Amino acid sequence: MLGKLEPAQIEHVLQTEVVGRIGCHADGRTYVVPVTYAYRDGAVYGHTGKGLKVEMMRQNPHVCFEVDHMVDMTNWQSVIAWGDFEELHGQEAERAMVYLMERMAPLATSETAFAHGDAAHALSAEALVYRIRLADKTGRFEERGGKPKLHLAPAL
Ligand SMILES: Cc1cc2nc3c(=O)[nH]c(=O)nc-3n(C[C@H](O)[C@H](O)[C@H](O)COP(=O)(O)OP(=O)(O)OC[C@H]3O[C@@H](n4cnc5c(N)ncnc54)[C@H](O)[C@@H]3O)c2cc1C
Repeated sequence: MLGKLEPAQIEHVLQTEVVGRIGCHADGRTYVVPVTYAYRDGAVYGHTGKGLKVEMMRQNPHVCFEVDHMVDMTNWQSVIAWGDFEELHGQEAERAMVYLMERMAPLATSETAFAHGDAAHALSAEALVYRIRLADKTGRFEERGGKPKLHLAPAL
């Protein structure tokens, strides 16, 4: 069966996934790019070097953010949300880095993994930390079998 996720289930998907896709649009061009993120209090936090997506989001901060969890073709959950890109500085940026490091730590697999990076580099001139406060969110799921029961992944 196909259905809509309840608000609490939408929050669960956003909290338990770690890779999302930012959709941005500027100068008549649309760009969808995968990023890792941490989700706190209705906002997505991310860390990035400067490049096309930052250029585009500076020009037009209105973005779409998508996350999904797929078990198989007939068992999945997906969330689509909209919000505004904001660059963070000072204490807000440091707090965002803590969120990101806490979120990535369980996924670190090597010395070069992000979670082992230091906050000084993360906040250097070549990199920036951002927030996307999600305003509107929608969720859909497909669940095979009888009574619908979502198998949502536990938080890492
Ligand atoms: C699972 C996953 C997690 C990631 N997490 C992060 C993250 O947290 N932070 C982060 O900054 N980056 C992350 N990346 C890399 C990210 O997708 C971009 O490649 C990177 O951020 C550079 O984006 P940019 O717009 O600055 O590209 P630029 O360096 O400006 O390059 C733009 C050009 O490269 C192409 N390009 C850029 N990225 C990709 C891509 N992923 N696949 C194919 N073509 C591409 C574009 O089409 C465009 O032509 C992640 C990638 C994956 C797959």
